[in-house]
Amino acid sequence: MPIAASIAASIAANGDGWYCGGIPLWSEALGLSGRADAVEMADDAVWPVEYKAGVRHGQTADLQLCAQALCLEEMLEAEIPYGYVWYGGPRRRLQVDFTTALRNEVCGIIGEIREQLLTRQLPAAVDDERCNACQLLHHCLPQLANAPRKVRSYLKDVVFGCAT
Ligand code: SF4
Repeated sequence: MPIAASIAASIAANGDGWYCGGIPLWSEALGLSGRADAVEMADDAVWPVEYKAGVRHGQTADLQLCAQALCLEEMLEAEIPYGYVWYGGPRRRLQVDFTTALRNEVCGIIGEIREQLLTRQLPAAVDDERCNACQLLHHCLPQLANAPRKVRSYLKDVVFGCAT
């Protein structure tokens, strides 16, 4: 579906403002593309909203939301000073201010990812409490990544199915 039609189809009135779900986002300057869970508008203001099922885990959702805001700023030629993350655990939405520090951190991470793509070097698996809530946990297998002996056991026992 063309982007304009997709946006038009997903716009809904919400009190005094507008709500658009599943909006495609991109930034030519940053080389980013993705999709916002929602973009809300009221008066002259616009802001992204990210929905998370559980509880807040550090700054990760803030960084994701800020990247969405940077895309929206470029697309709309607008200034977006804040957005919201809604957490399903406490059923609350928290405001995230897009400070200079947060914006710089997002841009730094984008630069690191680009470097990793160019050099084809994956970062080391963190294998800490963050992994418990990570969607990649069952693909990444972080408990194996930093333990060569365990990798050998995994290959022998699971991948090649020749446990002794
Ligand atoms: S499971 Fe892998 S990708 Fe996810 S946080 Fe842990 S190390 Fe990172």
